Amino acid sequence: MISSRSQRGVIIFLGRARYDHSHHLFHFGREKPALLASNDTTSNAMPGKKARARKKKTERRDARELTKPTFDVDESVAAAVFAHVTNTRDRLALACVSKVWRKVVTSDGSWGTCDLVLEGKLGEKITDERFEDLLRYCGDVKRLEMRDAPVTFKGHYLFHAGPSFKKKFASLETFFLINCPGVCNTDILGFLQDIGMPDRPKDTRLRCLRLAGCEIESDLLDKFRKCLRDDPTETFLSDKEKISFDLWECDACGLVSETSEVTMCDACTETYCTSCAVEEGCKCTCCDFFVCRGECEVTANIIFLRCDRCDEVMCQSCVFSCKLTSCIGNEGKPGCGKQLCVDCQKKAKVLYIPCQECWCSWCDECMYKPDRVGGHPDCCVGKGGCGKTICGSCSKKKQESGSFFVFCEFCKDLWCPECDPGVQVNFDTGVCKMYCPSCFGKAGCP
Ligand SMILES: [Zn+2]
Ligand SMILES: [Zn+2]
Ligand SMILES: [Zn+2]
Ligand SMILES: [Zn+2]
Ligand SMILES: [Zn+2]
Ligand SMILES: [Zn+2]
Ligand SMILES: [Zn+2]
Ligand SMILES: [Zn+2]
Repeated sequence: MISSRSQRGVIIFLGRARYDHSHHLFHFGREKPALLASNDTTSNAMPGKKARARKKKTERRDARELTKPTFDVDESVAAAVFAHVTNTRDRLALACVSKVWRKVVTSDGSWGTCDLVLEGKLGEKITDERFEDLLRYCGDVKRLEMRDAPVTFKGHYLFHAGPSFKKKFASLETFFLINCPGVCNTDILGFLQDIGMPDRPKDTRLRCLRLAGCEIESDLLDKFRKCLRDDPTETFLSDKEKISFDLWECDACGLVSETSEVTMCDACTETYCTSCAVEEGCKCTCCDFFVCRGECEVTANIIFLRCDRCDEVMCQSCVFSCKLTSCIGNEGKPGCGKQLCVDCQKKAKVLYIPCQECWCSWCDECMYKPDRVGGHPDCCVGKGGCGKTICGSCSKKKQESGSFFVFCEFCKDLWCPECDPGVQVNFDTGVCKMYCPSCFGKAGCP
């Protein structure tokens, strides 16, 4: 047996495989660890040609010895090392190293409390016999995860074993059977019921159950949900990744779908498959907010707006954040009602101008129709101006109260009262005209 304790952890040579404990990795091949490479042979140096030749020969032999791949360990060491290997793949790789390892790895219950994760090639190659063996090695299974098992895999051993076997699942927390089409859905439920999952105190039931890609009937979903510690509905809208169960039935047609393909009503939490969601509710194309049509729309008190040009539907909060704008007009005067999403505004070259005084909203076409809006709009666009825009009717109200935007007749600039650069009035010609300070002289005023 050779083991070298490096600063990082134990590196052990096992036949062709080297297990790097610190990185949970196996290295295959004849790498020489740095620690062993520094062997010093100078102490027994002999003078002369013969001695040098012998020394060289010894060095070569030492080098060979050091990189020689087959080292064996005794059972206790193997067991000690094995205790640090948690990955199912690595455990099975160890079993291939030697007889001693095989014995340690494949005796009943030798895996102790463990995660049994069969994915990738391990999942694809699983058979009922292999699965039975693996479960025998396990002591107490906390996590049982299988993906992409062939259709020939039925999981019989899991579903039809005796009570001593069921003890292995006393602390099962995570149960994944993803894309295992050969497994019968009543078998899975039967297994969970056999190990007493639905009767356990709620906080010791399954943390996570994933059955996507298995044939599960919709009337069993409620029974599966009884095996969970957390209600999946509660996490659906907040964190889909952490959801306790990944299957949902469509409340309209009964189809069972995965979380990613399901739409949930924000008001009543009913779930719909992709195609029924279109029929049964309104969904914001921007933020995915969804409510059933009718009652839930009233409960959620949400009005959806649809883009006139591309049919995108948006919820109120997305409308408020200006992802879709409507020419609604102001209190007394309705706008033309044209509503467009941001993309279509660009495509149709329509600009929406909100009034920064009364926050009404107009399309640019309506904004400049004084008869529609109730007066001419004003915008503080003069040099150094703040850019504030107010609608025609607000402008009119301001003029009536004596606080109006100032206009230079010469340079045609306009400022709000706050940004007024000092516009002066000239009565010389008999007509009242206003000029900004830089134009006053140029305009021939004294
Ligand atoms: Zn449906
Ligand atoms: Zn609803
Ligand atoms: Zn939205
Ligand atoms: Zn649009
Ligand atoms: Zn308009
Ligand atoms: Zn206004
Ligand atoms: Zn201004
Ligand atoms: Zn001017």
